Formats: sequence, structure tokens, C-alpha cells
Amino acid sequence: MTAGPSPSACADAFRDAYGHEPEGVWIAPGRINLIGEHTDYNDGFVLPVALPHALAAAAARRTDGVVRLRSRQSGEEFATRTSDLVPGSVPGWAAYPAGALWALAESGVRIDGLDLMVDSTIPSGTGLSSSAALTCATVLAAAHTHGASPDPARVAVLAQQAENGFVGMPCGIMDQSASMLATAGHALFMDTRSLETEQVPFDLAGRGLALLVVDTRAPHRHVDGAYAERRRSCEEAARVLGVPALRDVTAEGLPAALEALPDAVSRRRVRHVVTENERVLETVALLRSGDVHRVGPLFTASHASMRDDYEITVPEVDTAVDALLAAGALGARMTGGGFGGCVIALVEAQERESCLEAVRAAYRERGFAEPAGFTALPAQGARRVV
Ligand code: ADP
Ligand code: MG
Repeated sequence: MTAGPSPSACADAFRDAYGHEPEGVWIAPGRINLIGEHTDYNDGFVLPVALPHALAAAAARRTDGVVRLRSRQSGEEFATRTSDLVPGSVPGWAAYPAGALWALAESGVRIDGLDLMVDSTIPSGTGLSSSAALTCATVLAAAHTHGASPDPARVAVLAQQAENGFVGMPCGIMDQSASMLATAGHALFMDTRSLETEQVPFDLAGRGLALLVVDTRAPHRHVDGAYAERRRSCEEAARVLGVPALRDVTAEGLPAALEALPDAVSRRRVRHVVTENERVLETVALLRSGDVHRVGPLFTASHASMRDDYEITVPEVDTAVDALLAAGALGARMTGGGFGGCVIALVEAQERESCLEAVRAAYRERGFAEPAGFTALPAQGARRVV
């Protein structure tokens, strides 16, 4: 079984839909974030890994100014003219690839037209960043078919602009950077202020460990509005504290910062961001020294902070984390923006099935929908495959 999409099946679907050959197939993976949640829009630190689950995009340039967008995961086809690609003009899923073309055009690449077919194995809307894979793969495909070759970090920025400026999702840079820059066997340590990155070895198999990903199947509730609200409250707290971003509040400076804030909610938000940045740095230090086991408690502390201070968890997520820890996981936490989505756990390799079964049992007891689970090894970032 392979977790990624089949490039040849994507190319076949392209041919069936458009009646001509694609010029290539590009692949961009989904990601999970090991630790560092809601830190990216605070200029802080993140530590994602790419998943073997990915999105393939087959594409060919057109010369008549027409853009046609199709997905094997959606019945909605979309067609427009390049000159009509303006924010707000494209509904539904097609806003993501249309936004990618718009961002590329804004950066100065002349888009003559495009036929695009995408095919993905990344479950969508579960916090594994299917949207970033979609925009990254589209930027890559459109750039390459138009003779441009932006470097991977630049593609990530353009893909982020697609979500921010075209789709209207005020996300940070983490998801796109992970999809573009991650390498197999490593976690991507990123300073989202300087955009500096470091590939940190993340050797699970060598330590007898596994990373279990549990899709809680909890429906996302009010996720966009709540995300924007968290972001606003961080910006407001930074303004009150007189710093450019919450990244500039250190662990030592935290007590004084909390004193200076006017209300309990913003104190909780700031405490999450500051302690979460610290946990990312501690995790990176442990991974650099090969102490993978000791990362577990940092996962668990991160989860408590998201639950109690950032208030972005839901009962399904908390239940999964509690069940995993009770079943012997070394650490567990929600990953992604929150309000549902996925939970990750660091587990002894031989205990992955019993840990997942513990979540299933806890869900049955509470009447929650059956969760899905898989183990993942850190995979390679985006690339051209055909
Ligand atoms: P996530 O990025 O965590 O998966 P988002 O809500 O940010 O969740 O993005 C999910 C959206 O991305 C979907 O609602 C859809 O519009 C779009 N999308 C992702 N993958 C595909 C795909 N294969 N085909 C069509 N649209 C997709
Ligand atoms: Mg997304």
C-alpha cells in the first residue's frame, strides 16, 4: 500500500478530461506539525514533517488565456480567463488553485492559461494541510509550464499569498513551507520570522518508535472565525505589550507580560504562544541529541496548553489524547489549527495498534464517530515527478 497519489493515474485523468497530454505531474505532500501550534503568525517557531500522503497535479500550459481546473475529489469543474482571476471571483475548492495562479501572476509571471487536474490522498479539512498541498502543487505546475522556476521557499510564500489574498484564509507560512521544504527522515525546524530553516533528524524507526496520526473525524466547528479571532487577540496583545510580535516575549519575560495584560483571556493566549515557542526549542534540542523518547512529555504539555490556554480543542480531540496517554503513549497532542482535526502520538512501535484501539474504545463509549488512524514516517517535500 502506498499512501501517496499515483502520478500516472493523475495524468490519465488529465488526458480523459482534456483530450491532450499534460506537460508534467507535480507532487506536494500534506504535513503534520510535531509541535508549535498557532506560533507561525506570531513570528515564532514550528516543527512540521511532510506526510507520505500527497496531492498530485497534472498540468499543461494553454496559450488562449483560458484556465480550466478539475479535481478527482470534486465534481465541480471551474473555467475562467486569466484576466478574470481576481480575489472573490472564484467560489469553492477552485479558489485555491485559482489563487495560486493569481499569486504567481502578481509576482510577475505572465500566465498564458492552464489546464489542471489534481488528485490527492490527503484527507481534506482534517488539519493535514490539503489546502497548502493544493496551492503549492499548482504554483509549481504553473510556474514550470510557464518557464519560471521560483525556489521552494518562494513557492511557499506565493502559496501562502494565495490563501491569504485570494481564498481569504489568514494562515501563516508553516503549512506551505512544510510541503515545499521538508525532507525524508527529518522534521523542518523553522523560524517564521527570518524564514530560516533547519532539517532536524527525526529517526523514529531507529529508536523503536512510531508516530501515530489519529483523524478524530470531529467536524470542524467555526474554525475560520475562531482562527481569525485568535490571531487578532495575539496582535492586540503584542500591541499592548509594545512588541512587534508575541515571539518577542521570552519565557523569562512572561510573568511581567502577563501582569501587563488587561484581561484573563489575553493572558491565556499569550501564555500559550510563549510556552509553545519554548517547547519547540526544547523539542529541537532533544531531536538534535537523538533523545526522541523525551519529546513525548512536551507533546502532552503542548496539548494541555492548547486545551486550557488557547482553548482550541474539542471533546473528540481531548478524548483521543487522554485515551492514548492511558494506553501508554509517550506523548500526545492535537496537531493543526484546532477545533477538530488530527491528534498525533509518539508511541513504542509495537504499541501502535493497542493505542489506536484504545481511542476506538473511548470513542465507542462516548458515541463519537469511529476515528481513523495511520502511522507516518517523515516524507519528502514537493517535487516534479513526471
Ligand atoms: P486542510 O488544509 O487542513 O486540509 P482546509 O480547510 O485548509 O483544510 O482546506 C481544505 C479545502 O481545500 C477543501 O475544502 C477544498 O476546498 C480544498 N481541497 C483540498 N484538497 C482538495 C482536492 N484534492 N480537490 C479539491 N479541493 C481540495
Ligand atoms: Mg489548510
